[in-house]
Amino acid sequence: MTAARRDRRSARGSTRGRALVRWFRRRARPLPWRRHPDPYRTWVAEVLLQQTRVEQAAPYFERFVRRFPSVRALARASEAQVLKVWEGAGYYARARHLRSAARRVAARPGGALPRSIEELEALPGVGPYIARAIASLAFGAPVVALEANGLRVAARWSLERGDVRRSAVRRRLERRLLAELPSRSPGTFNEALMELGETICRPVAPACGRCPVAGRCRAYRELDDPATLPRRRGHAPRPLVRAAVVALEADGRWLVQPRPRRGLLGGLWEFPGGKIAPDERPPAAAARELREETGLAAPSLVPVGVVRHAYSHFAVELHVFRGRLARRVPPRNARARWLTAESFARRPRPRATEKVVALLRATAHRSGGGAPPGSGSRPGRTRASAPAAAALRRRRSPPRGTIA
Ligand code: SF4
Repeated sequence: MTAARRDRRSARGSTRGRALVRWFRRRARPLPWRRHPDPYRTWVAEVLLQQTRVEQAAPYFERFVRRFPSVRALARASEAQVLKVWEGAGYYARARHLRSAARRVAARPGGALPRSIEELEALPGVGPYIARAIASLAFGAPVVALEANGLRVAARWSLERGDVRRSAVRRRLERRLLAELPSRSPGTFNEALMELGETICRPVAPACGRCPVAGRCRAYRELDDPATLPRRRGHAPRPLVRAAVVALEADGRWLVQPRPRRGLLGGLWEFPGGKIAPDERPPAAAARELREETGLAAPSLVPVGVVRHAYSHFAVELHVFRGRLARRVPPRNARARWLTAESFARRPRPRATEKVVALLRATAHRSGGGAPPGSGSRPGRTRASAPAAAALRRRRSPPRGTIA
């Protein structure tokens, strides 16, 4: 093959690559990050899509770029503002890293995202995949960007039987795809590969009958069931963490506190509480956690219900208790605050805490006191009167709600 022919072929990519790109140009879904694409929007979308499915990510993306339309706008925002806009999307470290990285980018000459993979990877929260995705989608770099969907498609195309979570297997798949990459449109090829994986070459029951490259797919041609690739190991059951949570009220306010900045849900606000020990009953755990975290004790803690929430690697079962103090007492934790419900709602909160608040609101009329904080009642009315407090203490098995 002459050098000129080789160059032309590399510019257009393989026959399969060209078919894939043609299909994508005709059938790409009108996703919000595909409108008015620019490096910043591509970056935000890729970060969101790392742990979130496309249909879930779309509204979060729109909300995020509406509130922070540029790197500079994001760099100017406080961490709490960014977390609040990210609220509900989960994996909050992504939002914190995005903001830190935006501050670094804004401080660069010109304030633009770097183009090289090395410089992109040096930004907080930008790993090898996101760096390659930004470099190819936003700047046309001739590199392969492989996430879970692309890996699955690539493994089926080439009948790869190795474990795609192993880096040697991933590198092998990348090398094979690199030979197919059209140097004229590497970003479109990468995006098309992901689109095929998300919409047609799905993990279970791939729609091979609608696949634009079925004729050039080894799994389709040689296997009874292409879905057997890539090989999967069975998932271990998610461990369950049991915890007690205390919604302590005084003067129409709740006592709440931010989580430590480092670690799961870092910087998000929640009620005091913590794990229930293996031999401990939930009421005892609630009283202990309240004492240990805040130095406070409530005259009585009334069980309100149980909230369940699943994270990627574990599930939580939150036993929720309501307590009241006659007046606000400064907690031992200097970062804790007595907040109205409205003020608490403006702080970034984990989804599980949202569920706890919903449960408290739903059961406010049954838990012997007035309305929950911030529900419109005057502060004095949320205190339990002496008869009501006595009734609370007498109640042996209060109604339990469950929010899952
Ligand atoms: S033919 Fe089937 S298995 Fe192969 S890429 Fe298309 S959808 Fe996936």
